[in-house]
Amino acid sequence: MPSSGDAAGRRPHVVLIPSAGMGHLVPFGRLAVALSSGHGCDVSLVTVLPTVSAAESKHLEALFAAFPSVRRLDFQLAPFDESEFPGGDPFFLRLEAMRRSAPLLGPLLAGASASALVTDIALTSVVLPVGNELRLPCHILFTASAAMLSLCAYFPTYLDANVGGVVGDVDIPGVYRIPKASIPQALHNPNHLFTRQFVANGRSLTNAAGILVNTFEALEPDAVSALRQGTVAACFPPVFAVGPLLPARSPAGNQPKDPAGYMDWLDAQPARSVVYVSFGSRKAVSGEQLRELAAGLEASGHRFLWVVKSTVVDREDAAELGELLGEGFLERVEKRGLVTKAWVEQEDVLNHESVGLFVSHCGWNSVTEAAAGGVPVLALARFGDQRVNAGVVARAGLGVWADSWSWEGEEGVISAAEISGKVKAAMGDDEALRRKAASLGEAAAKAVGDGGSSHRRLAEFVRLC
Ligand code: UDP
Repeated sequence: MPSSGDAAGRRPHVVLIPSAGMGHLVPFGRLAVALSSGHGCDVSLVTVLPTVSAAESKHLEALFAAFPSVRRLDFQLAPFDESEFPGGDPFFLRLEAMRRSAPLLGPLLAGASASALVTDIALTSVVLPVGNELRLPCHILFTASAAMLSLCAYFPTYLDANVGGVVGDVDIPGVYRIPKASIPQALHNPNHLFTRQFVANGRSLTNAAGILVNTFEALEPDAVSALRQGTVAACFPPVFAVGPLLPARSPAGNQPKDPAGYMDWLDAQPARSVVYVSFGSRKAVSGEQLRELAAGLEASGHRFLWVVKSTVVDREDAAELGELLGEGFLERVEKRGLVTKAWVEQEDVLNHESVGLFVSHCGWNSVTEAAAGGVPVLALARFGDQRVNAGVVARAGLGVWADSWSWEGEEGVISAAEISGKVKAAMGDDEALRRKAASLGEAAAKAVGDGGSSHRRLAEFVRLC
């Protein structure tokens, strides 16, 4: 049921301002559709041009074509001299470019007759002043876990009290202790561009009108309740756990193409027999680790569908699969493994009955999608917030995580033997794991269904718009 409108009966007009990277864009697109189709809002989505990857442009085109009710507001970035950050990650650089262009949002938004803004955490400290200037309530969609939101909210206080300057375990009030080894790599360096952005955004969180988080209560009960009760940081704005944000399903006839044939291949496999392996949209895994993973999957004896990425941005992705995965691998696993470098519709894969396990880097969208599909996860965190998310996965019982496994920047690789052992265990007789993952899938469906906790929170949020 549409849940809002002001005293004069006008529908709220919510303008969404996402940042770069599919992990951010995907949940913003889903929120746009949920607000416009399920909660009676007019919605505009700011489209930052040029996009940073081919996957982003395709995703946006498909979204606007399938949901014409979501309006597109093009935003051309100001020129940005990347030579200031030699060797910088293209996504961090894009983020910095967007942050510097934020003042230009003012004139764009002034003409949009918005009633509220929702921006990404990565842009918070620069978009809030624009919202204030225009006297518009400015909310945040936090696209990572509630655990990560609590770290973001608490980290500036932690740093202020941390006279030695070395980051250790971070014990977040009311949530739990995040071990030093799980803190995103960049945050150990106070001068890192990401750290400066993270701290600035964390400090400005209390100025937001409200914070939406793509999680649900059954997945992260401690963090959600501590955030809502203001235990993590004083004077914290209202927090709305509105996830898992569900895919914006294209109307029939508008389905994405499947040139790799993975859906047909999945159709031909027995129920719960396939290990789905993917490390998200944006971060390559080292060649050495890829080869151990290949050998581990081969040794596990299970069927698998593996989406391989070998470079950071998809348009440069030209390396050959055979070379990447080791001599003769593709030929040896031909009958039971499908390996592709194509973009797959991950939601469709995770909801396919032949999939029994998800070997995931634990990007937060992947975790929420696994939870929604009730698919157990084997966590292979690589970078950034992924160990925090892997911790959530293990705590919630959605999957397993060996916290001694190395990640980017640490010595050593995770060996084929370790990977195959964990895959065999999770695919074998771990009935408790399967049952718990399935029950989280049911809890996710209940949360977003009519009257569920996430549905109610989204309606509460719309009333503030
Ligand atoms: N994704 C997909 N197909 C792919 C790779 C990624 O649909 O081949 C989607 C995935 O379902 C998720 C998003 O891209 O919604 C990736 O976000 P996540 O937070 O999991 O990881 P990131 O890419 O940000 O590291």
